Amino acid sequence: MTQAASFQADADTNSLSDAVAGSTDRARIACPSCDLLFDVTDLPDGATANCSRCGNFLTTNKSDAFERVTSACIAALVMLAVACAFPFMQFSRAGLENTMTLPQTVMELWNNNMPWLAIIVASFILIIPAVVTICMLVLSITLTRNHSPSWLRQLGSTVFHLQNWSMVEVFFVGVLVSLVKIAKMATIVLGTSFWAYAAFTVLFTLAVTNLDKFQSWQKIEALAAE
Ligand SMILES: [Zn+2]
Repeated sequence: MTQAASFQADADTNSLSDAVAGSTDRARIACPSCDLLFDVTDLPDGATANCSRCGNFLTTNKSDAFERVTSACIAALVMLAVACAFPFMQFSRAGLENTMTLPQTVMELWNNNMPWLAIIVASFILIIPAVVTICMLVLSITLTRNHSPSWLRQLGSTVFHLQNWSMVEVFFVGVLVSLVKIAKMATIVLGTSFWAYAAFTVLFTLAVTNLDKFQSWQKIEALAAE
């Protein structure tokens, strides 16, 4: 369905209505919710486009988006390495102390005959976030340098598919809820790893939100066509 449409860019970045033209090199995006087609060729730097019919988010145009993603991914990987290397938290009650690291939580599940749960937990809080961050880093560096290797499309598909399976923020909210309950039963000392994982969660979310799907595919396709 192709039709002339207006779009709501954010705040005072104005309406870019009637921008649809017959030219083939226009940047068009279909609303993922209602399929209405929009022309976002003239979207100003820093502006966000939303569907004028259902209000669904379409895309954000940031000229320095890939540099932001690169910085966030490098910092996130450093924080994840710190989170795996240091104690996550320490419990003490009635003279007994127990220190736990993130890899140890997975091993505890494994040793208690819950291998599937151990694999799921390790995948969602460590392995998938690490793989997604590395893939986002490679993608953003490649796009920043205007390279177009043969695997670029596959990498783009992998990044945007795997992002749906990363649950770092869900895990962190779960930890905070558990802490409130455990704090009533034992003394808890939050370790370096806890704060590092909190920083990783923020940096990872920052990288994901800055890596705009439409902007990335526009660039991937443009480089492939050169
Ligand atoms: Zn819509």
